[in-house]
Amino acid sequence: MDFIQGFDRDQLQMLSFDNLVKQDSWARVVDLFVDCLPIENLGFKHEHAKEGRPPYATADLLKLFLYGYKNHLRSSRKLAHACEVNIEVIWLLKGLRPSARKIAYFRKNNSKAFKQAFRYFVVMLKNMGLIDGQTIAIDSFKIRAQNALKNNFNQKKIDRHIEYIDTKIQEYEQAIELADNEDQKQEITSKIEYQNSKKDKYKHLEKQLQDSGESQISTIDSDARSVVLHRNIINVGYCVQAGCDSKHKLFINNDTGTVNDTHSLSPMALDAQKLLKLKTMNVLTDKGYTTGKHIEICTKNNITTYSSPKAHSSQKNGLFDMQIFEYNKKGDFYTCPANKILTTNGTVYNKAKHKVKHYKNRKACVSCELRSLCTKNKNGRFIERSIYQEAVENNEQRVNENPNYYRLRQQITEHQFGTFKRQWGFTYTLMKGKANVLSEVNIMMICYNLRRIMSIFSPNDLKCRLKDLVLYFFDLNKLFNAILSPPYRNYFFHLNQLNTKIDSITTKLTSK
Ligand code: SF4
Repeated sequence: MDFIQGFDRDQLQMLSFDNLVKQDSWARVVDLFVDCLPIENLGFKHEHAKEGRPPYATADLLKLFLYGYKNHLRSSRKLAHACEVNIEVIWLLKGLRPSARKIAYFRKNNSKAFKQAFRYFVVMLKNMGLIDGQTIAIDSFKIRAQNALKNNFNQKKIDRHIEYIDTKIQEYEQAIELADNEDQKQEITSKIEYQNSKKDKYKHLEKQLQDSGESQISTIDSDARSVVLHRNIINVGYCVQAGCDSKHKLFINNDTGTVNDTHSLSPMALDAQKLLKLKTMNVLTDKGYTTGKHIEICTKNNITTYSSPKAHSSQKNGLFDMQIFEYNKKGDFYTCPANKILTTNGTVYNKAKHKVKHYKNRKACVSCELRSLCTKNKNGRFIERSIYQEAVENNEQRVNENPNYYRLRQQITEHQFGTFKRQWGFTYTLMKGKANVLSEVNIMMICYNLRRIMSIFSPNDLKCRLKDLVLYFFDLNKLFNAILSPPYRNYFFHLNQLNTKIDSITTKLTSK
């Protein structure tokens, strides 16, 4: 029976690597994109040794990361291996073979530059009209950290360990009294010493935890936190915040460091507003972000929030919920269902990090017929009103009046996280520390945005638009300054640099 046959391995062949890489390959887009970036302005650290072998070019290593992260090649060893066996990578790096150590150090030492590269890219997308910044959705996804759950501690866990050790020590002390001979006593004594050494370790952790003022501590990656990955599954990881624009669902910004979304609304929204240089914008978020303080900050900065309202705790206890108490803004009092006035003494109390005012009318509550339906408190009903309640209510009204607009949120953000996790395998980070974890996030987001604009434009259109970037990114100030300050050879040097770059990219474009 005949089968399809491969080529003859022993036959010598003349081949061009360029012919082996497809015209619409990801490698070609990455190659062109990085060549267009103003690498020298992004702040990549370059270790120029005075003697010995010169370093690898920043652009080459950046190309390697952008190629790898999109193709499940994230570890430095996998990337180093790809430089030897992967034809596209060999083409991309022109046969260079950086060691795994060089690749790892480059990523570790350039967290700020990766962030800068991503932000440059976002600004460029805005100038290309692909991001309009009118509506932004913010959401988060969780990734596992390089820190096992057993190396993460909170006070409860430390207490549990110490209690177990104390019980063990007690058992050993009883056993030592019943021991028959010196050998047995010696053996038990060494066990007690071992338990005491473990106890010292936990005591030390307890002190570290108290000194840090945090609720938990991770011993391998100190920035990692115990987070709910999904559906009650807890692991040590990072909660990554991501802002996305509604026009083409492109990423705008990112951050990490918190265990949930409660305090991320205003920092993320203000960062996006600053980056895109917008006066006003709308932000869509789920109810995890609904916090009065942050909604108020956004409102003051001309950012309109559409954050899903949270149910008030009074709606869950079966008594009159707070909504049926009517608030009078002018007089700053509430009218209750029995038509009584609940007033405040004006004091602002701190309740679990929330600033609230109390409203009550003890006298009226004592003799009220509706009391059993209203409160179980022997001093009568009192209402806690956040000092940001007005901002919260305005936000709630906006969401309720524009349900279809709010529903855009899911369309704008969530599918990108699926691409990251299911298609590109970004369910865990390889790095330790917030800054380095964000390096991975920034590389991923550059890849995502680049891949996304490959779908928006045709391949040729994309390449031409990337070429336009050269002029956009080139620091024209250098030229102007050089004109103003002799010697003029600086001017010709910069002009020459610009021309060389445009020539090299034009050659790449016309050769395909
Ligand atoms: S218990 Fe107090 S607050 Fe509640 S309805 Fe009666 S008077 Fe009003």
